[in-house]
Amino acid sequence: MRRLLLALPFALLPLAIAHAADEHDHDHEHGSLGAHEHGVGRLNAVLDGQALELELDSPAMNLVGFEHVATSAADKAKVAAARKQLENPLALFNLPKAAGCVISTQELNSPLFGDKPEADHDDDDHDDDAKDGAHEHHHDHSEIHAHFQFTCATPAALSNLDLTQVFKTFPATQKIQVQLIGPSGQQGVEATATAATLKF
Ligand SMILES: [Zn+2]
Repeated sequence: MRRLLLALPFALLPLAIAHAADEHDHDHEHGSLGAHEHGVGRLNAVLDGQALELELDSPAMNLVGFEHVATSAADKAKVAAARKQLENPLALFNLPKAAGCVISTQELNSPLFGDKPEADHDDDDHDDDAKDGAHEHHHDHSEIHAHFQFTCATPAALSNLDLTQVFKTFPATQKIQVQLIGPSGQQGVEATATAATLKF
């Protein structure tokens, strides 16, 4: 799911963000995320003609409040609620009706959604616990990835990307590092609840 956006050049981004992207790739390969920072999400937003693509990568902590696979009814309900919000991206990303955006593809991935099923949590620490043979409690970080593609009949109505609703819906999200690519070029922007509107 990251293929498309990873092909884009990172040359224009501030070093810090490019570096974070590198770390993420590394982590992604190993399926375990040690480097992510709770409270911080990442969003790639690309507007190209009528095609709008949004790709959100977030620590699960930001969206559901935990990162383990839900087993209790209460945790399962939280996962289901977050998933439902993510399945309604037109509202979540507050896309203006005037832009006439229609979802063309939608993809959600997370170990919390059962994408990497693990029968028991004592067999997923390939590196650490294998050495000492002890089954210490180990916190595995988990992310939630949401990838959306839209076709927008009137892209001129998309002068802004408003993330207000994302911060409202998932208040544990303190900031989102946004890579924005649109008619005016590519920019790396940091969005917060009080500065949630970005210009394409
Ligand atoms: Zn984490």
